[in-house]
Amino acid sequence: MDVNEFRVRGKEMVDYICGYLDTLESRRVTPSVEPGYLRELLPTEAPHDPEDWDAIMADVESKIMPGVTHWQHPRFHAYFPSGNSFPSILGDMLGDAIGCIGFSWAASPACTELETIVLDWLGKAIGLPDEFLAFAQGSKGGGVIQTSASECVLVTMLAARAQAIRKQKQQHPFVEEGVLLSKLMAYCSKEAHSCVEKAAMICFVKLRILEPDEKCSLRGATIQQAMEEDEALGLIPFFVSTTLGTTSCCSFDNLREVGPVCRRFGVWLHVDGAYAGNAFICPELKPLLSGIEYADSFNTNPNKWLLVNFDCSTLWVRDKIRLTSALVVDPLYLQHGYSHAAIDYRHWGVPLSRRFRSLKLWFVIRNYGISGLQKYIRHHIRLAKRFETLVRKDKRFEVCNEVKLGLVCFRLKGTDELNQKLLSNINASGKIHMVPASVNEKYVIRFCAVVQNATEEQIDYAWDVITEFATELLDTHNLEKDQEPADEVFEMLDRKKKETLAYKRSFFVRMVSDPKIYNPKIAKTLSRSRHRHVTDTGATVDNGVSIQTPIASWISWPLAFLFQGVFDEVSSSEVPVRFRHLDTMVRLKAGREGTQSPSMSPERESKSPKRSPIMSRKTSPSKDQ
Ligand code: PLP
Repeated sequence: MDVNEFRVRGKEMVDYICGYLDTLESRRVTPSVEPGYLRELLPTEAPHDPEDWDAIMADVESKIMPGVTHWQHPRFHAYFPSGNSFPSILGDMLGDAIGCIGFSWAASPACTELETIVLDWLGKAIGLPDEFLAFAQGSKGGGVIQTSASECVLVTMLAARAQAIRKQKQQHPFVEEGVLLSKLMAYCSKEAHSCVEKAAMICFVKLRILEPDEKCSLRGATIQQAMEEDEALGLIPFFVSTTLGTTSCCSFDNLREVGPVCRRFGVWLHVDGAYAGNAFICPELKPLLSGIEYADSFNTNPNKWLLVNFDCSTLWVRDKIRLTSALVVDPLYLQHGYSHAAIDYRHWGVPLSRRFRSLKLWFVIRNYGISGLQKYIRHHIRLAKRFETLVRKDKRFEVCNEVKLGLVCFRLKGTDELNQKLLSNINASGKIHMVPASVNEKYVIRFCAVVQNATEEQIDYAWDVITEFATELLDTHNLEKDQEPADEVFEMLDRKKKETLAYKRSFFVRMVSDPKIYNPKIAKTLSRSRHRHVTDTGATVDNGVSIQTPIASWISWPLAFLFQGVFDEVSSSEVPVRFRHLDTMVRLKAGREGTQSPSMSPERESKSPKRSPIMSRKTSPSKDQ
């Protein structure tokens, strides 16, 4: 394709995109295909000879589109929004055309400098403290664009890990880094995104997953008690990942309580606002950011809720040296004469190569203005409130989260199975698309306003679909309850069969993206621990009786998956270790000779064979020598 043909085809592509977005409503929101559908439609070999552009585009419509889930569809209400807007698409087009790889300032100065400037713009609009802004007086911080929120959490955990090991090394210069590493403990709430667990696996550190309160908010007393317990066992708290706007129900961890605890323990506090963080550009929502002054790092995804196309995940740190010193490598071929005076973003993340992503963010912010973006956020919140009102008016349903932003979690009053069936029927119909979550151990359905120009009519339509399916389901359900016992057995078997079929058929449309959030089986495993309330003093209150017990939590152990099968007995006094990726949970058992690899447990000299290696730990790192 030469420039003349590109001129023509480019314009045709813009027309195709406009037509696609304009007529999306006429398509099914989720595809009706089985796994492997495309393999049957495409050749097994790449074409040897060039193909005609028209033929390629014809295949887009006939072969690709039938397998596309339309995230920009007005009846798509799943997950969180996937940012999309014309200025953003144009910004990406230009970035692709420039095609630079901006790993250092010298590799493309505008690519680096625009990123720093736009991140300061957005950081200010969000209301981050000046310490996070690159150009604020006396600031040591700054912002960077990463590919995803998962990457933001990973790099901050890596930075915190490096900082913690450096500090320990100063105190215990003769202790091996590997031994120090085995003592490090990270923390998050059960409601945190599973990317925190993945980061802990990559960083090779233990992660303690804590129970939030009944509003799904991680509280200061809980984190304090966990850290005190762990320190008493010789472990070293080093990192806490909190969430503002959790994936399952958009709840908010209590930064004002957690922050001072992190300060006291000298622990890195990260704040993940992947979805909700964008909303803080609205002055009336800034109270939700309260406590950010305690944070060491903060991320939000404009590619979720700020009309910027994927990928654009923004991260700010209070001290850029603490981040880059964990990630810096400096071979001769990447050095340049301005290293001392300019930012080299290759030291701020995992990949070397970087796209010119700030262009699309810049285009969007300029073209909408902060006021336009605020209008968009408020519009989505208004729609969510409208949906919440509709749910509350229907006595058969209940709302299961505090609707502060654009997400409503709701369910039929009844069993989890009933709600599972409802969602499965709705999704299988292809009329609207939603995903489930587990909130306070209950199966709930998530409804999110996602499309840029979503309308009240679309929200009302979604509610009509939901109530129609609910009525049908409840009628069948009640009818089944009235049948004779013998019939019940037959019908139950029949129903089970149908459910299994429906489950299999709708497997694709349910699109499990985050096993913890969307896989009810795993959510059930998680819920086995007792739900308790922790008071300010760290005591737990159960039926009005105050008891001092270890708080409910799970440890995600970086090596756990290698040792499955090693632990064959389960004792209630032991610490539960979660193998989330294997959909199981076991309890670690220490000290039985020949059953546990010494390399797995830093507590191998534990006296009590009955207690877990973590719980029985008494020594400090220096005593390992
Ligand atoms: N954190 C939160 C709170 C999320 O909701 C999500 C995804 O929805 C993530 C992290 C992971 O985002 P990403 O896909 O950008 O890694």
